[in-house]
Amino acid sequence: MSPDSASTRSSSRVFPREFDHELPKAVRGEGIWVIDSEGRRYLDASGGAAVSCLGHSHPAVIQAIQRQAALLPFAYSHFFTSEPLEELATLLVDAAPAGMDKVFFVAGGSEATEAALKLARQYHLERGEPRRRKFIARRQSYHGNTLGALAVSSNPGRREPYLPMLMEVRHIAPCYAYREKRTDESEEAYGLRVADELDQAIRELGPENVAAFIAEPVVGATLGACPAVPGYFKRVREICDRHGVLLILDEVMCGMGRCGTLYACEAEGVVPDILTMAKGLGAGYQPIGAVMAHRRVVAAIEDGSRALMHGHTYFNHTIAVAAAVAVQRTFKAENLLENVRRQGARLKQGLEERLGNHRHVGDVRGRGLFLGIELVQDRASKRPFDPALKLHARLRDAGMSEGMMCYPTGGCVDGKRGDHVILAPPYIVTDREVDEIVERTGRTIDRALRGLP
Ligand code: PLP
Repeated sequence: MSPDSASTRSSSRVFPREFDHELPKAVRGEGIWVIDSEGRRYLDASGGAAVSCLGHSHPAVIQAIQRQAALLPFAYSHFFTSEPLEELATLLVDAAPAGMDKVFFVAGGSEATEAALKLARQYHLERGEPRRRKFIARRQSYHGNTLGALAVSSNPGRREPYLPMLMEVRHIAPCYAYREKRTDESEEAYGLRVADELDQAIRELGPENVAAFIAEPVVGATLGACPAVPGYFKRVREICDRHGVLLILDEVMCGMGRCGTLYACEAEGVVPDILTMAKGLGAGYQPIGAVMAHRRVVAAIEDGSRALMHGHTYFNHTIAVAAAVAVQRTFKAENLLENVRRQGARLKQGLEERLGNHRHVGDVRGRGLFLGIELVQDRASKRPFDPALKLHARLRDAGMSEGMMCYPTGGCVDGKRGDHVILAPPYIVTDREVDEIVERTGRTIDRALRGLP
């Protein structure tokens, strides 16, 4: 039989993400649970990838989608604005840090990053500084998988095959106190030391050449829910201002209430020039991302060419924005950000009690319902597991066997980071479900590590 024969291969016509890994078939959602075609139930402890912040069956969002679909599914943004679009923009801008002025909507996080980079470039062009086209980002960051977003990201596995196609970006150190803070320095001193790498990078590149610095307030996929130490982002803001460099904060994963405030940067006391969001914005009910701009960025365009040099067919998509309005209203109606703070504290405490003395748990960190557990081979030296063990895949499979979705990331690539498990349950999670997540996470980690050296 020819090796190309269809009978040697899966009958599914879906291009799989992994050829060797067959997935269960999801058929329905019930609160924070997903049920597969065999009737197995999975507790969604990671909201997929920090997406499903209202669980999987919220009637308010479902109704909003149905209503908009019946009224008008799609009004092309070159011709029309729409009521849900105007309402969503107002809700988001009114709740944003002072100065954030206007917002537009795209179809996801990578698109939001692309648009943010292009907006930063346009800002400088409008102001007569065409040389400003370089971007600075951080190592161990992830901003998306399209070519521009991948260029600013520093996820080696995803970048490497495409390196010759990526624009050159300067990457500086992340703010990663667990591994990088020296024992003889305070958190504050550490934060200022790493933030000052930005100043140095800008000076080396020449401030007149630098467009923007991009960073996640709380790093998700590449550092396992790692917040910066207090003061870090204030210093970053000062440095950007000093050199006329824009600050882009990527809140695709950590924003929209995930960390207990609608915008993660509220906790840093810092206002960016450009802010991106996605995931929790549509809560998984619709694919949607957003780019919000400070009034000084808007003014440069308003006083200049008067037209945004960016757009896609599904820009400001009508059903997507209607769903996102319902998400925002639900946050308020059910006081969900308060629940994020309360259940986040309960989850963190539960994890610390259950795993605090585990010999392979190096760190439990995070903010709100965005928590990360860093796994290490050896706690004292913080030595990560050998990446060849593919611990992240073992963790995912172990979680599914325990009837739970968790989000394992990382894998040592440079001897400097471990494997992480991100927990990001829906904001509607209850006390009992939080306790269940703690228990299943403990069992998942033990199952994944079973038999390892
Ligand atoms: N930015 C951050 C911080 C992310 O975590 C992600 C995705 O995980 C992205 C951007 C890309 O978003 P998307 O996968 O929706 O394109």
